[in-house]
Amino acid sequence: MKFYIHNRGDDLSRNLSATFKQRAEQKGLVWHEESPDIVVSIGGDGTLLQAFHKYVSQIGHVAFVGVHTGHLGFYADWKPNGIDKLIDCMTKTNLSPNVLVEYPVLEVEANSDRGAETFFALNEVTLKGIGTTLVAQLHINDEQFETFRGDGICISTPSGSTAYNKGLGGAIIHPSIEAIQITEIASINNRVYRTLGSPIVLPKHHHSDIYPVENKKIMLSIDHIHKVYDSLHSLRARVADFKVKFVRYRAFPFWNRVRDAFIGRHEE
Ligand code: NAD
Repeated sequence: MKFYIHNRGDDLSRNLSATFKQRAEQKGLVWHEESPDIVVSIGGDGTLLQAFHKYVSQIGHVAFVGVHTGHLGFYADWKPNGIDKLIDCMTKTNLSPNVLVEYPVLEVEANSDRGAETFFALNEVTLKGIGTTLVAQLHINDEQFETFRGDGICISTPSGSTAYNKGLGGAIIHPSIEAIQITEIASINNRVYRTLGSPIVLPKHHHSDIYPVENKKIMLSIDHIHKVYDSLHSLRARVADFKVKFVRYRAFPFWNRVRDAFIGRHEE
């Protein structure tokens, strides 16, 4: 089993990473940064987002697992004191489908003066105006749907639905559902600009195109990565054809993670 560790870079995560590497190699696991079977992320959810983007071109061959060195994360759900158990599982268990879960990924194609660029997001993609509102036509399956004016538009994955999307009033979507969700960021609604006002969930094989209608600077975020466009012509969003794999050596159901993160554990 080949593994690589991506850590957050703070002292705690770097030290835990060194300990993990040493103990894992003692148990026969092989350090392989170029093409690992498992990428261990040590830090927080943001660290796992970085790890996803580092290996996005090999996503079909890599599985991720997250250890948190801060608070419990959605992707980083192993505790630092569980690393020996994790190493044990990595040593003794094959990466068969019964220890893997797969989550949908968002694919966007941006068309600008730079040409066409394709990006993949684990959490979400957002489009925002810079210093001014975003004005854009939103199409669904090649039909004009609405004209948006406001701070921006967020398109999230099911596993990203608990992140920025949740703060925007979007629904929490179980990652077994292959879908993307479009939520508004502070839309302006009046007689000229009218939007639905509700989050929209698109199934696989549907797509949405966003056409900015004024030639303003636009910020495109892909998870934690931000890009500025002087002239973005369109953005097409859809569910990607591939999924991202996570190692699940022990059960931690999605709804339990949602409850533990946002409500707290129910005391009997
Ligand atoms: P960050 O350091 O500001 O962390 C953002 C927080 O989001 C962390 O507490 C992290 O644990 C949490 N988070 C990340 N993914 C999550 C998920 N799938 N479910 C639940 N919580 C999640 O920023 P970062 O580490 O660079 O992470 C980037 C992410 O921050 C973006 O993908 C976006 O989802 C989130 N974000 C949220 C808001 C908001 O809620 N208003 C605004 C901007 C960005």
